[in-house]
Amino acid sequence: MYQAPTVLLVMATLFIAACSEAPEAPKLAETAKETQASSAIGQIDDARINNADSEPGNWLAYGRTYEEQRFSPLKQINKDTVKDLGLAWHKDMGTNRALESTPIVVDGIMFFTTTWSRVYAIDAVTGEEKWQFDPEVPREWGRRACCDVVNRGVAVYKGHVYFGSLDGRLFSLDAETGKQVWSVDTIIDRDRFYTVTGAPRVANDKIFIGNGGAEFGVRGYVTAYDTKTGDQVWRFYTVPGDPAEPFENKAMETAAKSWKGTNYWEYGGGGTVWNSIVYDPDFNAVYLGVGNGSPWSRELRSPGGGDNLYLSSIVALDADTGEYRWHYQTTPGDNWDYTAVQDIALANMTIDGEDRKVLLQAPKNGFFYVIDRADGKLLRANPFAAVTWATHVDLDTGRPVESGRGDYSDEAKWVLPGPLGAHNWQAMSIDAEAGIAYLPVQENPLIYAMSDEYYETGLYKRHPGRMNLGLEFGRIAQLFVDNVGSQPKVRGYLKAFNFLTGEEKWAVEFPHYWNGGVLGTKGGLVFQGNALGMFAAYDQDNGEVLWEFNTYVSMLAPPISYQIDGVQYVSILTGTGGGDLFSGAPIDPVPQPASLTHSNTGRMLVFKLGGTSALPSPTVRDMTIPAQQLADVDDETIARGEVLYHDFCALCHGLVARSGGVIADLRMMGQGSHDNFDGIVLGGLQAGSGMASFADSLTPTDTVLVHDYIKARAHEDRELALGNQEAARLTWLK
Ligand code: CA
Repeated sequence: MYQAPTVLLVMATLFIAACSEAPEAPKLAETAKETQASSAIGQIDDARINNADSEPGNWLAYGRTYEEQRFSPLKQINKDTVKDLGLAWHKDMGTNRALESTPIVVDGIMFFTTTWSRVYAIDAVTGEEKWQFDPEVPREWGRRACCDVVNRGVAVYKGHVYFGSLDGRLFSLDAETGKQVWSVDTIIDRDRFYTVTGAPRVANDKIFIGNGGAEFGVRGYVTAYDTKTGDQVWRFYTVPGDPAEPFENKAMETAAKSWKGTNYWEYGGGGTVWNSIVYDPDFNAVYLGVGNGSPWSRELRSPGGGDNLYLSSIVALDADTGEYRWHYQTTPGDNWDYTAVQDIALANMTIDGEDRKVLLQAPKNGFFYVIDRADGKLLRANPFAAVTWATHVDLDTGRPVESGRGDYSDEAKWVLPGPLGAHNWQAMSIDAEAGIAYLPVQENPLIYAMSDEYYETGLYKRHPGRMNLGLEFGRIAQLFVDNVGSQPKVRGYLKAFNFLTGEEKWAVEFPHYWNGGVLGTKGGLVFQGNALGMFAAYDQDNGEVLWEFNTYVSMLAPPISYQIDGVQYVSILTGTGGGDLFSGAPIDPVPQPASLTHSNTGRMLVFKLGGTSALPSPTVRDMTIPAQQLADVDDETIARGEVLYHDFCALCHGLVARSGGVIADLRMMGQGSHDNFDGIVLGGLQAGSGMASFADSLTPTDTVLVHDYIKARAHEDRELALGNQEAARLTWLK
């Protein structure tokens, strides 16, 4: 177990004990105050964020303002001038894993995070590095992350930079120097697979942070800490714990009544808050976007039914005390990984003749929710994508009406949206005046299925140390490939969506569903980077491409815009990955994503009008598969390896052993890796790069099966690439 936080706290305490007379006082506060006095940069406070529109040149908070609309008032770059947009500078970030961060830009400095929770402070005009901080996340923690070793950013407040590390520590750094002020461990149980990837939010001298891990089996919660001392102020659990223990609060007592079964708390329950935590100064509230159930299957999680509060909900809390105020549940009895953690935006709008303070969210389940912030009342819930699990949301009851087409308790079914959602964490942008959301939309179904064992016997096994969905990826992968002909269309879109009327103003279609976050500006533009590597500016009126730049790298991160000394800039981070579960090359990969054909080079790119900088020439990825030394094994043996591969390896290395270009493509393994296969998989030889040992889950017999399967798949694809249809086994691609 990783103990650094304790060590640091002990060191800090010893230091202060030696230098200070005060025995009990908030010791860390003393050091924090000294640091703060010396800090000239990063001086953001509540008043500045509240008045962010008076300084549109800065990007002061995760979603720019407390309203998190991600709609920039800047308009030097506009429909007329955007043709002159060019690269001002770029910085290689030294990683080829996914970059998801939203930078904070204040007073000329840009603060953002990269892989393994590293933090950078950079001159926003020149790209020159001011400092960097590496929390040295133990690399074996990578295996605990469902969705890569990503981080979505920092909060900057009163001269300090706050961020969470993948292994669950919350840090305060001096904004001027990047030196650590304090660190606390936010994880309640380090044996469970908790991770932190989200950007913390800050208000009222408190920092709010959640976590992820529902796929593995954890209990979700959010904690508020004192920004100066790191002391815990409050904690709110999102799902009930062991009913033999006293309830933490009234909200947990209420929630427990909506859960059935005798051991749901042992599974963890889920409900992790891994992305959106939004502060609302109008009500002094924080809104939590709460995640999916753990396990996914409600038959297993809560046999006998129940809504399972507060899964897939938006929960409003008192920001000072963490006390429950109201909730709205988007997907009662979640059965499909339909998190409601997607970005939440706040707005003031006239709706049906009444002035309303509303909250906006487009969660995974495919409906766009407009909710009154005063009491949680549902005002609108229009579908923004193809949805098969429900027919509509009943505005009178506030509940979705399930269609039955999402019920996979008796047989496997294709369901839309799939677990990656009709919209995931990739940011949307809200033009509140126009009532339009610019939204990255995904149509990507999954064939949901319980295990064969469950269908035959009703039994389910929980597996410590790996995903616990109640659905087995080995089985799903087989079904996926066997049924690919009957799969609903897979596509991505950028949509301009009127969330009050449900009308689609325009849509741009992409061959890939997994594209980047969105920025709208007062210049009449919508910026987005996509899987094909194009960073583009679209006309807000009709979706026409007015400008594009080929980065040759697929993108997920949201662009932002800022202005310094009269020059407007637009920035974007390149590099895909994240939660794209079957991120391997699609079964029919035409055209392929840029990160597969070129590289997944992680870069910060910054553009301005008249920018003349250029990127190095793109590389072309060599996809030649080496000849394989096949074992003399039968199809049945290969099929056993195939199931193991999909249960343990596919999440990172890709469906049918085809990588998406982020994690190693095992078909390309060199002789050294083949020779050391067990050393890597069981012995942890490459743990330093995040490939932790699987000795707790796989035996040497298993690894032989997995290895033979990978070689068989490599052979198939090699022969196919050479045009030898008949020499390829083609069992997968029939
Ligand atoms: Ca999930």
